[in-house]
Amino acid sequence: MSDSLVPPLPPPVRTVGILGGGQLGRMMALAGARLGLKSVIYCPDVDSPAFDVAADHVCAPYDDEAALADFAARVDVVTYEFENVPAATAAFLDARVPVRPGTRSLAVSQDRLSEKTFLAELGVPTAPFRAVDSLADLESAIAEIGFPAVLKTRRFGYDGKGQVKITDPDDLAHAFEAMKGAPAILEGWVPFRREISVLTARGLDGRAVTFDVPENEHARHILKYSRVPADLKPETAARAVAVGEAVAAALDHVGVVAVELFLVETAQGERLVANEIAPRVHNSGHWTESACLVSQFEAHMRAVAGLPLGAPTRHSDVVMENLIGDEARDPERFLAEDGASLHLYGKAEIRPGRKMGHVNRIRPRADRG
Ligand code: AMP
Repeated sequence: MSDSLVPPLPPPVRTVGILGGGQLGRMMALAGARLGLKSVIYCPDVDSPAFDVAADHVCAPYDDEAALADFAARVDVVTYEFENVPAATAAFLDARVPVRPGTRSLAVSQDRLSEKTFLAELGVPTAPFRAVDSLADLESAIAEIGFPAVLKTRRFGYDGKGQVKITDPDDLAHAFEAMKGAPAILEGWVPFRREISVLTARGLDGRAVTFDVPENEHARHILKYSRVPADLKPETAARAVAVGEAVAAALDHVGVVAVELFLVETAQGERLVANEIAPRVHNSGHWTESACLVSQFEAHMRAVAGLPLGAPTRHSDVVMENLIGDEARDPERFLAEDGASLHLYGKAEIRPGRKMGHVNRIRPRADRG
């Protein structure tokens, strides 16, 4: 074959642009650095923890087109650490440089209604749901779904913010007011036994790998612990993995995607009900840093850079503990602990409810004793 018939190779990715400068962006940049990838962080907050560990950063609002154009010119690919990247920002960048995961992953996961509709169309069970734009919508939705139920804003909700549980008819008006006029969704209450999540990394070539499934415990709506292995049947874990890989494929996702699932005990056995999709690395995957050969952060950076994903092999059992607010005040005690690996995010100020760091506690796999 003559040289002219050889298709040109895409230029290798050397620099990754990351939208968002929090702890997730920071850990992505650190993982990328291990592979020789430079990161440029884009974030409007001057105190962004990711700025400290990246090759460069741009500190500007997400609608500053001159700053976005400058950012795009400096990177080979753009990724993000949060799903609320404005659609116009993603589209502006996408016209200049590949954005991975793509804009579809953003569009589906930014809105709880499109997210649940997408899952339902994929055949993944969810809580029953109805769109709510008025008190009359809420009344007819509750008539169909019944009590208890939970009313959530369709967009910008996280860690239990923007949601109200409804247990009787007297709650309706108050719950609707709490949405402050924002489009909402009513969901049936899921009587779950535990919460789990599935983290799948999908490469540019469509190959996907999935980490072992963690079970997640929340305190005051914020993730507190992720434990692996999770206490669930192997066939349930296999179903969770199938959900992660089906979601990643249907989104044509490149990078890590997390699906939060409820585990429900029924007379017929364990059932999985999907709650939420995060088109990014996820807090419930922080244990992979210490217990896997390739962490979720490295898998994500490999995927967006078009590199082989490797295997997400887990070598240890692990419990990840989030350090929230004051819990990070005396980090030396974690450093003194055998089998514990401390990761601090370098945030300037401790605030109540703020994720300051995490500790991974590992021990040899019980199933390989
Ligand atoms: P979300 O913001 O949707 O991730 O919800 C935050 C937390 O609220 C979840 O992790 C659950 O603990 C709880 N929750 C949310 N939706 C439901 C539901 N439909 N049924 C039961 N619990 C829920």
